[in-house]
Amino acid sequence: MINRLAIIGMGLIGGSLSLALKQAGRVKHVVGFSRQASTRSEALSLGIIDSAECNIADAIKNAEIVVLAVPVGAIADTLISIAPYVKDNMIITDVGSVKAQVVDSAKLALGDKFRQFVPGHPIAGTEKSGPAAAFAELYQEHRVVLTPTKQTDEEAVKKVCNMWIAAGAEVSIMTAEHHDDVLAATSHLPHLLAFNLVDMLAEEDADVAEVLRYAAGGFRDFSRIASSDPEMWRDISLTNSTAILSLLNKYQHQMSLLHQAIEQQDGDYLIAVFERAKQARDTCFNEPSLKDSSEV
Ligand code: NAP
Repeated sequence: MINRLAIIGMGLIGGSLSLALKQAGRVKHVVGFSRQASTRSEALSLGIIDSAECNIADAIKNAEIVVLAVPVGAIADTLISIAPYVKDNMIITDVGSVKAQVVDSAKLALGDKFRQFVPGHPIAGTEKSGPAAAFAELYQEHRVVLTPTKQTDEEAVKKVCNMWIAAGAEVSIMTAEHHDDVLAATSHLPHLLAFNLVDMLAEEDADVAEVLRYAAGGFRDFSRIASSDPEMWRDISLTNSTAILSLLNKYQHQMSLLHQAIEQQDGDYLIAVFERAKQARDTCFNEPSLKDSSEV
């Protein structure tokens, strides 16, 4: 049981964690911090939090676990603003979609207290944001990745792990660098492709509504992630830039080969690519134990 949980940033991810723990009866009191009065009152009226604070020092006071659920680009500043108020027995964790840069920021901001910081990332979400988008079942049968370092306190890792299990998730542990490489491929690159393709079609065809009206199921599925929050994806793209740029280079090369094959009417090349992709998709995505673990 968590006696007092502080959620910094009460949007989809922070709000859903609070609701899940409340539904499971695993938290006594949740205090939420938000910059905007409207977010605080919305979170209170939706029952996401038990009390709201507009001062971050007051929000984390006496908290057993502090969850940073703000956009990736705001995590470094948030760590700096809580650092003077972090007590020795307090656990700090985050939910940011990029991990290596967050770990570096936490080292700088927290100093001696860095051992109390457990970096985390729930691989669950929707394309919606804000407190109204939060729901208790979001993490059910989804993965949460924790990326502790050698300095991270083991007891703190266990407590954060137990918190996510109580919220319905399955926890995996890996390095921050590995996380960022894997997520660049499975989430960040696909989001960039979806944003870019929908933007291109919208620019090309004034009546984008018609394009979408006639969209087959595949495009509908694929384009759904282009509805995701632009600021969140700006932060992710700029923060995980090394891994993303390396993949974009590979992807651009693959696209030029595809372009060349079509231009040269090279059906064998196309069949080879499509067959390899189909086989990989058919064999690797048949994991029955977890729901679709894509980010959104
Ligand atoms: P969200 O619904 O937009 O909520 C973010 C909250 O942070 C808002 O309630 C906002 O409240 C606050 N906030 C925004 N900018 C801020 C700033 N500069 N400083 C302090 N607070 C700020 O976003 P979310 O989808 O929950 O995402 C939160 C985190 O989870 C991000 O780091 C994201 O990378 C990660 N994540 C998202 C998903 C997903 O699919 N959405 C999945 C996994 C992880 P106020 O404006 O009222 O302060």
